[in-house]
Amino acid sequence: MEIKIFSLFPEMFDGPLGSSLLGKARSKGILQIDIINFRAYSTNKHHAVDDYPFGGGAGMVLQPEPIISALRSNLNLHDPETEIILLSPQGAVFDQEAARQLSQKKQLAFICGHYEGFDERIRSFVTREYSIGDYVLTGGELPAMVMIDAISRLIPGVIKEQESYEDDSFYHGLLEYPHYTRPQNFEGMEVPEILLSGHHENIRKWRKKQSLRRTLLRRPDLLEQYELNQEEEGLLEEIKAELTLEQNADGE
Ligand code: SAM
Repeated sequence: MEIKIFSLFPEMFDGPLGSSLLGKARSKGILQIDIINFRAYSTNKHHAVDDYPFGGGAGMVLQPEPIISALRSNLNLHDPETEIILLSPQGAVFDQEAARQLSQKKQLAFICGHYEGFDERIRSFVTREYSIGDYVLTGGELPAMVMIDAISRLIPGVIKEQESYEDDSFYHGLLEYPHYTRPQNFEGMEVPEILLSGHHENIRKWRKKQSLRRTLLRRPDLLEQYELNQEEEGLLEEIKAELTLEQNADGE
């Protein structure tokens, strides 16, 4: 996949996009990431890219010319396989389903805003607008890195085993089950017996039940949207009965 990032602060990307799995994916050629400083496309003699807002008010606004000219010089704006993504707290909230869809594209472009934001007319050149949550950051660089990380790990070859992301939280709509590793007893806390049994079917069922229980307790909103199969319906009934028993026992 080809990724082009349009930012005023290219140096911010060095660590996160140069190390660990993303760094490896880049050196293997699975990911090709270019960072374009759109200040280079400013025709202003001081290379300014921002100006005061019409109508007055605090802060500076990114001008349309440098950004759009950078997009035109580096992308085919009409290629349906290219998504031009604007990072903005006003966009759709980025989630695992958006990551899955975007991981199937040939080329992604990310426009990182800064200062008070960008001139509204930039919006007519973008194909998607994403926020990473209901809070305001100083720039779009961190949101771009968050999105690129989440998208890249779904591209074949970036993570070794496909199962390692298929069991992850959100991938199928539920939170993941709890994990344990050595030692078997840590400060009096034991690993659940079933995980030591070697019985694959029982372990699979236990994990499914834990995943449903976690989602019910922590993110019931996810469970409302999730389509349960017959086995899951049965497990959920068991969980609800167990929780009622636990609540009754607590009340005694
Ligand atoms: N004045 C803008 C508003 O209220 O919508 C916020 C501007 S913010 C200080 C500067 C830039 O940071 C934005 O243009 C955007 O690119 C990025 N940004 C800030 N918070 C973000 C978020 N939650 N998700 C994605 N991008 C964000």
